[in-house]
Amino acid sequence: MTISSTIQFPQALLEPTESIQHLLETASLYLHIPFCHTRCYYCDFNTYAGILPLREPYIRALLTEIALAGEMAQHAGGVWRRSRTIFFGGGTPSLLSVSQIARLLDACHNAFAVDEDAEITLEANPGTLSQQQLAGIRTAGINRLSMGAQSFDAALLKTLGRIHSPSDITQAVHWARAAGFTSLNLDFMFGLPDQTMQHWRETLNCALDLHPEHLSLYSLIIEEGTPFYTWAHEGRITAGDDDLCADMYEYADELLQSAGYINYEISNWALPGHHSRHNLTYWQNLPYIGMGAGAYSSFGGQRFSNVREPQQYIRLLNAQRLPEAESEIVGREQEMSETAFLALRTAMGLHLPTFYARFTQSFAQFVGDRLQLVEKVGLLEQAGEWLRLSKRGRLLGNEVFLRLLPD
Ligand code: SF4
Repeated sequence: MTISSTIQFPQALLEPTESIQHLLETASLYLHIPFCHTRCYYCDFNTYAGILPLREPYIRALLTEIALAGEMAQHAGGVWRRSRTIFFGGGTPSLLSVSQIARLLDACHNAFAVDEDAEITLEANPGTLSQQQLAGIRTAGINRLSMGAQSFDAALLKTLGRIHSPSDITQAVHWARAAGFTSLNLDFMFGLPDQTMQHWRETLNCALDLHPEHLSLYSLIIEEGTPFYTWAHEGRITAGDDDLCADMYEYADELLQSAGYINYEISNWALPGHHSRHNLTYWQNLPYIGMGAGAYSSFGGQRFSNVREPQQYIRLLNAQRLPEAESEIVGREQEMSETAFLALRTAMGLHLPTFYARFTQSFAQFVGDRLQLVEKVGLLEQAGEWLRLSKRGRLLGNEVFLRLLPD
């Protein structure tokens, strides 16, 4: 896929406002809610249909894990106790009741020192929402809603196996506004089977009519193990080809930028001040604590993942045991590489003074002569304190990383 050269450079939006040392002692919290009404045909997330009766036992297990994680942070001398963001992801967190969401939030506030102005996001399926529920979760403390809208074309929503209709999206946004949400994200997909440029233009226009503060646009990836994978191999469906996807991306980027959105990461556009602070945690390689079945955590030079199966997760926590499945030590050099390369995948790039402050070594020292070689062939460019991929570099992202990586 080609990427537009018109990406606006948004450093003013994203310059670190706190010292990197503070940020490294802060954790973003992720809560995984693995329930869905039905499985969408393209989805390979760790989520399950047909286990809704497990919701309450799962919430109780999650409450236990939140408390255990808070104790762990306490024992670590308070490092990672402060939290700037909480993210309810899934799955379909909007399948929880208002009181279940409120209990989870209370547990986070009891176990961690959550910032007063923390960004607290809940992912929602527009087909599962009600006006009352949205008002309830807003009152409970959710201040950002992220909706999997995917398309405004009814036939394409059916193709994807989604349970909602285009009018459910519009209705849900109106209810969310009435409930007081001032930060809304809508997700859309492109490169779908039988999706034309005309479909895509109409979807984006309908999306802009709703004035969301944030938009995430993803091209369809056909993942192994999904019905789409089987159907693609049987020749029953074909995803949009690379050229069409590139055209769709460029069209969206130009349209959204002309409407005032900033393309701050390859797949993400935000009105000024509305970038996702939670997702920036991942792209800036900062600490996060993931709780729930299959959730990942990364802090203090280690990475952990939880058991994936909700039943096993519940059993372990009922026995007051940590649900850890795997762990990995992340060495200093690996952390430096990952920090640089995650940042270079974003539109703003790598903030060089922050890299130095984090590792007491400059990025130029870390990669040595290789930096000049890559800059010389025009794959990287420096703008003030930021280093980012050039337009050509973005097309050859992985090659740039291979050329830069220490042996
Ligand atoms: S609603 Fe989301 S998480 Fe659930 S099956 Fe569909 S895409 Fe996957």
